Amino acid sequence: MTRIILPFFLALFAGALAISSPAAADEAQPSKRIALSFDDVPRGEGAYFTSDERTARLIAGLKEAGIEQAAFFVNPGRIAKRPGAEERIAAYVAAGHVIANHTNTHPRLSDTSVEDYLSDLDAAADWLKGREGLRPWFRFPFLDEGRRDPEKRDAMRAALAERGLTNAYVTVDASDWFYEHELGLAVRAGMQVNQEAMRGLYVEVHVEAAEAYDALARQATGRSPAHVMLLHETDLAALYVTDLVAALKAKGWTIITNDEAYEDPFADYAETYDTPSAGGTLTEQVAWQMGVPAPRWYAGNNTELAEQWFKMRVLGEDMETAQE
Ligand SMILES: [Zn+2]
Repeated sequence: MTRIILPFFLALFAGALAISSPAAADEAQPSKRIALSFDDVPRGEGAYFTSDERTARLIAGLKEAGIEQAAFFVNPGRIAKRPGAEERIAAYVAAGHVIANHTNTHPRLSDTSVEDYLSDLDAAADWLKGREGLRPWFRFPFLDEGRRDPEKRDAMRAALAERGLTNAYVTVDASDWFYEHELGLAVRAGMQVNQEAMRGLYVEVHVEAAEAYDALARQATGRSPAHVMLLHETDLAALYVTDLVAALKAKGWTIITNDEAYEDPFADYAETYDTPSAGGTLTEQVAWQMGVPAPRWYAGNNTELAEQWFKMRVLGEDMETAQE
């Protein structure tokens, strides 16, 4: 009897110790950390806001949420046709955020020769050079690192290193661009949009994605890396970023700077992973590398599923209508 009960009480006691001691608790479950990043700056105007309004709201939302530093990945080739874009980028930097290279015109590496791709990347670098808030980071458009062409992947790794750039990978993605697109179509078509449902869906998918990718990273490497969330410069972000941050914090997440995130040892994998198809989140790649069975991504990135959620919850359509 004692033999059975004693280990039980010892385990309970050890559990109580772990909970009462912060150091032990940290070891048992390190705090989850995540940085926010926004791609495709400058985007055109959204369904609700002009580009100027959106930037002002996004900066205010980040400030209200207590975000010290977000990263904005810029396509300078779009600046000329989007009036005020240069000033908006400067406004992000003046608010404490940082900027980095996302190519000049947003090509897809799989569809482009390395030579052409690099000249586009270099054109963006020319515009960014010497600007305040610049970080030596490169974010691959479409998270496409060459897909099934390992020679392209390796050529880009070498080319980035030659230029003193590092791969500004993401570890968490919930397809925010898809909801922004669907919302734009619905608003422009004069459809009834349930904004509270949109807020709930936007927050929910991003928190779920963060949790899912963190579980995947822990499964693959045994630890929780400093994460980087992929977002875009959208009306949705301008509307709901404070809600998103509050929901993340409620789930035990700490929001960190991108500077801190990219110092994590997890970054090493971005230079070394070797899988059959290069791209997507780095979390997926590391899980693949470590032999974690598929699926190695957040289910909500299936846009058919995302479309159903959007139509049912935000537009109030029933399942049958949504599937037509
Ligand atoms: Zn992009």
